[in-house]
Amino acid sequence: MSLDLPFDNSYARLPDRFYTKLAPTPVRAPALVALNQSLALTLGLDPDALASEAGVAALAGNAIPGGAEPLAQVYAGHQFGGWSPQLGDGRAILLGEVVTPEGARFDVQLKGSGPTPYSRMGDGRAWLGPVMREYIVSEAMAALGVPTTRALAAVTTGDIVLREGPLPGAVFTRIASSHIRVGTFQFFAARQDTDALKALTGHAIERHDPGANGALGLLEGVIARQAGLIAQWMGLGFIHGVMNTDNMTISGETIDYGPCAFMDVYHPMRVFSSIDHHGRYAFGRQPDVAMWNLAQLASALLPLIGEVEPAQAAIDRFPELFRAEWLRVFRAKIGLQTEAEGDEALIHRLLDAMANGQADFTNSFRALGTPGARDQFMDRNAFDAWEREWRDRLSAEESSPEDRLDAMRQVNPGLIPRTHRIEQAIQAGVAGDYGPFHRLNAALATPFADPGPYADLMTPPTQDEVVPQTFCGT
Ligand code: AMP
Ligand code: MG
Repeated sequence: MSLDLPFDNSYARLPDRFYTKLAPTPVRAPALVALNQSLALTLGLDPDALASEAGVAALAGNAIPGGAEPLAQVYAGHQFGGWSPQLGDGRAILLGEVVTPEGARFDVQLKGSGPTPYSRMGDGRAWLGPVMREYIVSEAMAALGVPTTRALAAVTTGDIVLREGPLPGAVFTRIASSHIRVGTFQFFAARQDTDALKALTGHAIERHDPGANGALGLLEGVIARQAGLIAQWMGLGFIHGVMNTDNMTISGETIDYGPCAFMDVYHPMRVFSSIDHHGRYAFGRQPDVAMWNLAQLASALLPLIGEVEPAQAAIDRFPELFRAEWLRVFRAKIGLQTEAEGDEALIHRLLDAMANGQADFTNSFRALGTPGARDQFMDRNAFDAWEREWRDRLSAEESSPEDRLDAMRQVNPGLIPRTHRIEQAIQAGVAGDYGPFHRLNAALATPFADPGPYADLMTPPTQDEVVPQTFCGT
C-alpha cells in the first residue's frame, strides 16, 4: 500500500528552468519521531495514513506518494550581502502541493532528503538536531500567531550524517504556503530572463496576492506582509539569524529556522548566529535588513514594473509601514488600546530600561502590571520611574485593570522556545529520549495560557545553561 495525497502541483507546471525534477534518495531505516496530527487534519490529510509504514516511508523519501512530482527548486540570493547567482534546494525536495478542503494551497517539502544538482559541497542531508529545532520553533511561532512555515513530521533515517562528528540523520516535512523567495526572482532577473520573471510573477500573484495589479502590486503586497512579519518578530524578541534574500519569502511566512533564537535577556543588538561575525542580522537590524532585501526584490521586478519611480516609492514606504505595525504590536504589549503622541517614546524608554537592567524580554512583558515586574530589572528604580509614567498614560485608557491585564496576556506569551530548552530536548533526543521534545511542543502549543505544569519552561537559563550561539542547520 502506498500513500496517496491530494496533490495538485502548480509549481511543477512552470517552465523546466524553474527546477530539476528528481526523487528523494532513500534512507536505511525510517522511524517516526513526530507527526503533527492537527496540522495534518487542517491540510485534509489522514494522520493515521501518514503514521503508517507506507506513510513514514513517504515522509523519509523512501516512497513517492501517489500524485507527487518531486523536484528541487532553483533560486539565487544575497548571503550576508554577497551575491550567489545560483543556490537552490540543496537538501530539500518539493513533493508537490496539497489543496485543503477550504481551498488553500500548501507545499509539502522534505528537508534532508538527499543531494540535488544544487547541493554544491553539501551532502543533501540534515541531522536530528536542526530538524527538532525547526519542528519546535516553527510550531511555536504558529501558536504565537506569527506567519510561518509549519512542521508536519520529523523522521529519523537510521543513517549517520557527518558534521563535527557522526550524528543521527533525519528528514523534516515542511509545509509552506509556497517556497517562493526573494532569491527566486533574483535568479531569473540576473539572467535577464523576462519570460520567466513574468511566469513567476503570475504564479506568485495567484498564490499570494490574488487581484494584485501586476508586478508592482505583488511588490507592494510583499512589502506589507514583511513589515507586519518583522514587527511581530520584534514584539517577541525573535532573531531570525540568517536573513539572506533566499531566506525571505514572498508569502510573508517566516522560513528557514537555522541559527534563530528568542532572546532571554534583552539587548537591541543581540546576535546569535555563529557565522554572523559582523552582526549584520542582529535583532535591532532586522527591519533595515528586511528593507534592503525588499529593495533587491524591487530591482529584480524592475523589468516588469517598467519605471523605477513607483518601485522606489513602494520601498520608501516600508519604514512607515513597519513603524505603524511595530507601534500596534508594542502598544498592545503595554496594554494601550488608544493612541497618544508619546507612546513610541514611552515604549522605547521601557526597552532602554530593560537593556540597562538586563531584563528577560519575555518575562518582563508577561509580568507588566503585576508586582513582580520590577524584579525582572537589575535597576528596580529605573523600572519604578518608568512604571509611574506608564500609570499616568494608562489613566487616559477606559479599560479596567483586569481587562487590560487579560488583553496583555493574549499578546505577551509566558512560554517561548528558549534556546537552552531546545538544546536540552535535542540532547535527550539524540540519546533516544524524545520526552523533553514532546513536552516542549505540548507546552508551546498554548503560549499565552497560564503555564500550569510547564512553569519551569518560563525560567531563563542559569549561567551553566546559557547557549551563547546557535548554528546553521547544515
Ligand atoms: P540555508 O543557510 O539553510 O538557507 O542554506 C543555504 C544554501 O545551502 C541552500 O541553497 C541550501 O540548499 C544549501 N545547503 C545547506 N545545507 C546543505 C546540505 N547539507 N547539503 C546540500 N546543500 C545544503
Ligand atoms: Mg535557506
